[in-house]
Amino acid sequence: MSKGVLTDITKCIGCGSCVVACKMWNHLEYDHKQPASGPAAKLNDKNWTVVNTCEVQDTRSEPVWRFAKRQCMHCEEPACASACFSRALQKNADGPVVYYPELCVGCRYCMIACPFDIPKYEWSKAAPQIAKCQLCSSRLAKGEAPACVVVCPTGVMQFGTRSELLQRARNIIQSDPQYIPSIYGQDEVGGTCWLYISDVPFAQLGFRTNLGTVPLPWYTHRFLKNTPFIALGWGALLTAMSFYIRRRKEMAENKQETEKELGDKHED
Ligand code: SF4
Ligand code: SF4
Ligand code: SF4
Repeated sequence: MSKGVLTDITKCIGCGSCVVACKMWNHLEYDHKQPASGPAAKLNDKNWTVVNTCEVQDTRSEPVWRFAKRQCMHCEEPACASACFSRALQKNADGPVVYYPELCVGCRYCMIACPFDIPKYEWSKAAPQIAKCQLCSSRLAKGEAPACVVVCPTGVMQFGTRSELLQRARNIIQSDPQYIPSIYGQDEVGGTCWLYISDVPFAQLGFRTNLGTVPLPWYTHRFLKNTPFIALGWGALLTAMSFYIRRRKEMAENKQETEKELGDKHED
């Protein structure tokens, strides 16, 4: 049964403890150029989760501040996994969409396919990999909640089965009029394991609200029908280029050797 996390935007104080916990649990470096919390926070290969500070326009009063923790949504039918022909991204039965670097060929189709713009690439590394939140899958396998959920001092996030969390979210919304009548992730692109409730419209928090409810693999499958041929074509091109470059190098080396021999003979 899919597990997930319900995030209550009204409870977040923007302290960033979840960001620190994620870095410590996953041994991620601090990125001194790209902050992981604040108005300019952005996901990248070192920031698997960020806390965005959002100024929300409220027609009844002064603008208000809200903090939105973002990470992979762990889609029920992940477009990233369906676009990955080498199966480097796989959906676990208990919810997480997990990346297996040893299977990755670096094609980056997952980055194009993801509707939430989540997978990032380690551009600065010699052997780059894809980077994204793994929903702490090794912790889930042991029955533990994700590291970021556990450390949150204000209880913003609840961990449980997706169906329990959806029921809890409905109960909260029905019993408290401050919440907008919407659960983000319930239906988006076929549903996600990371769910949100809020007292301000999700669009004002920078969430994509026009994604529709159709699982994106429905579209990517049509693209994927061609993927093996694209991959084969790409592979053939790389092989041909490698052969051509090696041949050029050999010819240049032979030419240098011949010139040296001729030079030596001339001096004799
Ligand atoms: S949010 Fe993107 S990266 Fe995460 S599971 Fe869904 S499609 Fe994959
Ligand atoms: S679930 Fe784990 S990997 Fe994902 S943001 Fe939280 S701590 Fe990081
Ligand atoms: S630890 Fe909790 S309160 Fe602090 S930023 Fe993360 S979600 Fe918000």
